[in-house]
Amino acid sequence: MSELSITRLTTSDADFDQKLNALLAWESVSDKSVNKIVDDILLDVKNRGDEAVVEYTNRFDNTSVESVAQLMLTQARLQQALDGLPTEQRNALEKAAERIRRYHDKQRGESWSYTEDDGTMLGQQVTPLDRVGLYVPGGKAAYPSSVLMNAIPAKVAGVGELIMVVPTPNGELNELVLAAACLAGVDKVFTIGGAQAVAALAYGTQSVPKVDKIVGPGNIFVATAKRAVFGAVGIDMIAGPSEILVVCDGKTDPDWIAMDLFSQAEHDEDAQSILVCPNAEYLDAVEASISKLLPTMERQAIIEVSMRERAALIHVVDMDEAAEVSNRIAPEHLELSVEDPKAMLPKIRHAGAIFMGRYTAEALGDYCAGPNHVLPTSGTARFSSPLGVYDFQKRSSLIMFSEDGASETGKIASVLARGESLTAHARSAEYRIKD
Ligand code: NAD
Repeated sequence: MSELSITRLTTSDADFDQKLNALLAWESVSDKSVNKIVDDILLDVKNRGDEAVVEYTNRFDNTSVESVAQLMLTQARLQQALDGLPTEQRNALEKAAERIRRYHDKQRGESWSYTEDDGTMLGQQVTPLDRVGLYVPGGKAAYPSSVLMNAIPAKVAGVGELIMVVPTPNGELNELVLAAACLAGVDKVFTIGGAQAVAALAYGTQSVPKVDKIVGPGNIFVATAKRAVFGAVGIDMIAGPSEILVVCDGKTDPDWIAMDLFSQAEHDEDAQSILVCPNAEYLDAVEASISKLLPTMERQAIIEVSMRERAALIHVVDMDEAAEVSNRIAPEHLELSVEDPKAMLPKIRHAGAIFMGRYTAEALGDYCAGPNHVLPTSGTARFSSPLGVYDFQKRSSLIMFSEDGASETGKIASVLARGESLTAHARSAEYRIKD
């Protein structure tokens, strides 16, 4: 059994706040050398289009193509991937897609309006985005689940065209990723990645259509590029490393909790896994489970670094304090591994997704529960929400005054406009005031 010492914090310690802040501190996308590399790539793709995309793809993904046409996959190729899947994988993918679609169907925003007594109508019209770019990471691993989680809400929203980009190191295609794209209704796929793919989507090239918004996770080059093109296009969010916070009453099998912590730690070395519990002996038990189970993990090396560097076991006074600590952390994933999670729910204010009860492993949410797995990280759940249908819809205000309404409301506008010395505004309103 390999011993792994994990940071232990106790809320009653005088320096708890300081230690928690240090634990949570995360340098987001701010690496100057990466900024320079990304800015150069963005500018180059903006100026030279396809030619630059081909050069960067050959350089970073170790391919040897001559045109972007060679990096574009046809619908027939996507269908071939879906048809060629082993039955078990195809069934799993289809069931996951169905569950994700059913959940997101509920999120569709509807237009609304109301009419005032004088016949004036006010409202809001909801419309989908015309064209969206979906970044699917592919540098070190393939993520078919990310294809479903990003593409399905866009389709539910009614987005006109969905362009997917995915890097294929050494030109190796991942069949499950292509099959997921087919199933989710992606319109075009380009096997490009990194900052060059973000640039191509943001500015458009001879072959890659310019999109209105870019969604999807990626490494630091992708995140930096997304931040840089924001404004020219919309983006969903800047995602940091994955996180899980488990709040446990000390009565769940410690092996279950250890594995739930691993399930985020195995994503990458920077991932963060935290357990909060009022029972110190239980924290010991989970720590023992962690040491026992670690050698059995395929991604032991990554988990070990993540657990050693960024994990913590936090001892709290009671479950109320556990909720307070959780709110302060505002985790991406929160597991309430307690007897009555519904009773605890009103105390939870900030979390990307809340997994309720001992049977609800966060891993189910990653693939097939239904809700989106693209969630706010690094405490941003304080002010933002999971990726959803609403990210692919926008709202236009509707204003239609009747003659009487224009006259009455015009008087208010006139006074306020004259107060601001904006005469054209005032007179424009006054023309419509009845004598
Ligand atoms: P990626 O597709 O994000 O990046 C690969 C690309 O990075 C390459 O194509 C290349 O263009 C570029 N690149 C690599 N080295 C470069 C260099 N030195 N200079 C310029 N460009 C370079 O794939 P990845 O690297 O595997 O990263 C995927 C990330 O996405 C991981 O951090 C993973 O944790 C994250 N992820 C998050 C979620 C989520 O829902 N939050 C889901 C899946 C993956």
